[in-house]
Amino acid sequence: MSLIVQKFGGSSVANPERLKNVANRVTETRKKGHSVVVVVSAMGDKTDELIELSKAVTDKPSEREMDMLLATGEQVSVALLAMALHKNGVKAISFTGPQVGIMTDRVHTKARIVNINADRIRKALREGNAVIVAGFQGQTEDHEITTLGRGGSDLTAVALAAVLKAPVCEIYTDVDGVYTADPRIVGDAQKLDVISYDEMLELASLGAQVMQARSVEVGKKYNVPILVRSSLNHTEGTLITKEVKAMENFLVRGVALNTNEAKVTIYGVPDKPGVAARIFKKLADHNVNVDMIIQNKTNKATTDISFTVLQSEIVKALATVKAAAAAVRAETVDCDENIAKVSIVGVGMRSHSGVASRMFDALAKNKINIEMISTSEIKISCVIPKACGKDAVSALHKAFGLGKAQKVMKE
Ligand code: ASP
Ligand code: MG
Repeated sequence: MSLIVQKFGGSSVANPERLKNVANRVTETRKKGHSVVVVVSAMGDKTDELIELSKAVTDKPSEREMDMLLATGEQVSVALLAMALHKNGVKAISFTGPQVGIMTDRVHTKARIVNINADRIRKALREGNAVIVAGFQGQTEDHEITTLGRGGSDLTAVALAAVLKAPVCEIYTDVDGVYTADPRIVGDAQKLDVISYDEMLELASLGAQVMQARSVEVGKKYNVPILVRSSLNHTEGTLITKEVKAMENFLVRGVALNTNEAKVTIYGVPDKPGVAARIFKKLADHNVNVDMIIQNKTNKATTDISFTVLQSEIVKALATVKAAAAAVRAETVDCDENIAKVSIVGVGMRSHSGVASRMFDALAKNKINIEMISTSEIKISCVIPKACGKDAVSALHKAFGLGKAQKVMKE
């Protein structure tokens, strides 16, 4: 008998039927004699609907009020799930993030968890409850409600598993696990049995919409085994765990597509020390997350800088960039929202050469133009025109032979 943390995403609780299905799964776990902490997201697209509502009122909502609004979504699901469990005869109690001591910093809409005082959860567990916790939310020291960034329920679940020292954190979703590519784009995409934290981290942050990136970071830091599986069937799922040597046998583990970013270019930036620092400090001060950055030394007195930001932050980013550009006397600022980022990921890249050329070759053969390139130890990303995104994923999946099952032995 052990403690299991189970997280159910928005699609798994999208309607009363699905919610009852979740209650049944939790009931099964309880019947096996396990203690269980269940983290749930808002029902279906509730969070998006709330965001739309705010947009109908203003295009610049206060971030504090945004958190007040968004945190309501999860509160609905936890209460309903507790009721459904009661109906199944299972003792259960629901809590909001603040109620169970999830303490965060003050960065509204993407707060970081700084501490969790899980005493109240432990007490409720001792009293024989299935404990249902609202994902995606916490509070600051001054009792302000915060949210943890989109997909933040994963983070709630993994952080709770870490604090409660649960042997596993199960993430239930509407897919069977982590695939070599999005199965909706690539017909022969394969489910992976296991994947390392680092690979998953790259895939998550690159737009493979399976898990929130920060939750995987926390999983890695505290060594929480994370099992991603479907809430709709009983197949095995994918285990996200520490890296083992055998994982290096595969050059590329997955291909990811991210269509959530926009490219910003500042033209005619004076090419002298300190200018980039000033621009990006402004962005950092405004909490704008910047992803790929490209700048080249030219033989002129000025240069151009391009970088990508989240499309959802483009209004804020552009306002900040324009002010920063004017301050350093750059010429103009331009923005392109019709981009996609396609990436290949694999720990095998560390020890093999020629991976980049193979990637560029596959894109070239499909007449896909590369606008930006960036690499890390285990990843290569290219920014390409948005319209070519799906073709690029299919071409790369094929070029790296990912359509066949890969077997990694757990060591
Ligand atoms: N409901 C929030 C969102 O849609 C959190 C989550 O689903 O994990 O982003
Ligand atoms: Mg969601």
